[in-house]
Amino acid sequence: MGFVIDPPPVVSVPVVGSADRFPVRRVWCVGRNYVEHAKEMGFTGREPPFFFAKPADALVVIADGATGDMPYPPGTEDLHHEIELVVAIGVGGRAIAAADAGRHVYGYAIGLDMTRRDLQMVARKAGRPWEVGKAFDASAPIGPIHRAASASPMAAGAISLEVNGAVRQSSDVSKLIWNIGEIIEHLSALWELAPGDLIYSGTPEGVAAVVRGDLMVGRVAGLGELRVRVV
Ligand code: MN
Repeated sequence: MGFVIDPPPVVSVPVVGSADRFPVRRVWCVGRNYVEHAKEMGFTGREPPFFFAKPADALVVIADGATGDMPYPPGTEDLHHEIELVVAIGVGGRAIAAADAGRHVYGYAIGLDMTRRDLQMVARKAGRPWEVGKAFDASAPIGPIHRAASASPMAAGAISLEVNGAVRQSSDVSKLIWNIGEIIEHLSALWELAPGDLIYSGTPEGVAAVVRGDLMVGRVAGLGELRVRVV
């Protein structure tokens, strides 16, 4: 049997210290998962985590030490950066308890949940889906995956983003409202997680716009740097 059109290529992310790559199935994202970011978006208090998704081919995969190019997307005049810790799922499952979540994690990467904020806000006000603001082409730059160093999910570590050398976002993974284990518990209660799923875990405060020519440098402790040029 053949295919009537060419099948799409498997999207994959390099793994630090390995010649083999991590194949991507789905890209999940957690909304408003740091208190100070929830506040800057007009919300307060702890609400149950909520999720949205991006297509796997929205990833812009950037090799270790390289600077990747992200094309400025059409339809927006307010493209925002959101630096995030990304969790790579290596073992699938449903109804995973937070206490067992660590054994489902293959590793971690630095990612950017790029957002057409103007279009997201129009959708939010109208009660429409978020795809137009979140799930556009090249909306998810990501660096290489670092294999998990511990059996328990990452609980702390500095996370930051600079644009043209100026710090825009600076926080710590310990400030996640829902930690990595809890995210996996909630997500796997709603969908069966599968090997190859990525989870963007949410962004801290300081989201703001970038324009063509800007250089974004994201960092998460232990995961190196993610360097992305908006072109
Ligand atoms: Mn986000």
